Amino acid sequence: MNRDKQRGQLIVLSGPSGVGKSTVIAELFSQRKNIHFSVSYTTRAPRVGEQDGVNYNFVTREEFEGMIARDELLEYAEYVNNYYGTSMKVIEEKLEAGVDVLLDIEVQGAAKVRARCPDALFIFIIPPSFEELSRRLHGRHTDSEEVIAGRLAKAKEESTQIANYDYLVINDKVSNAVREIEAILTAAQCRVKNREMIYKGVFAL
Ligand code: ADP
Ligand code: 5GP
Repeated sequence: MNRDKQRGQLIVLSGPSGVGKSTVIAELFSQRKNIHFSVSYTTRAPRVGEQDGVNYNFVTREEFEGMIARDELLEYAEYVNNYYGTSMKVIEEKLEAGVDVLLDIEVQGAAKVRARCPDALFIFIIPPSFEELSRRLHGRHTDSEEVIAGRLAKAKEESTQIANYDYLVINDKVSNAVREIEAILTAAQCRVKNREMIYKGVFAL
């Protein structure tokens, strides 16, 4: 039996497009076990190198609206003209099995999760400077100038929501950002409410 915790921890990671979320998550997942990446549904087109079912589940607007109508989504939002959403089913199964689940979602979706899952852990990740964010978006070579401009404007707008998060991570170097997230997850694991079974076992309570 896993005596360390009963239910998995839901982790919400938000941050502007291009800050390095996917890069940091890939590095974190290569180091950490017992954590599941929630593959979102989106109506945006796949970028070069993205795989259906791995980075996202790529669906049509009609399919996405069907999921909304059937109430299958924990949360969803429209972001720069596309729908993005999190399916409830897999997350619930993983959390129930004691596996941590990480959502990479934008601020409107995070606000919905905060209302529905108050025990979730909310982490916001920022670049070391706005100029560096622009450099990373350009350096990725995946979006047009117009899309990049939209994403930079969105980044400014989203930054007004940072105070609603529990933790702020700065992605100057990937290894530093991963170390900070590891520290946050370890601290969360040590919360008294996550270790109830342990201390009750020790003291036969
Ligand atoms: P997001 O998932 O937040 O949209 P990506 O992970 O796709 O961002 O990263 C955007 C670009 O920035 C990629 O080209 C990636 O290689 C680069 N990048 C990510 N983290 C760093 C970092 N700490 N320093 C420099 N470049 C980075
Ligand atoms: P991108 O197009 O760069 O992959 O993602 C754009 C934004 O959508 C990012 O801020 C990302 O965190 C967010 N996003 C990805 N999946 C979801 C989701 O399921 N729900 C919500 N609300 N946002 C998401």
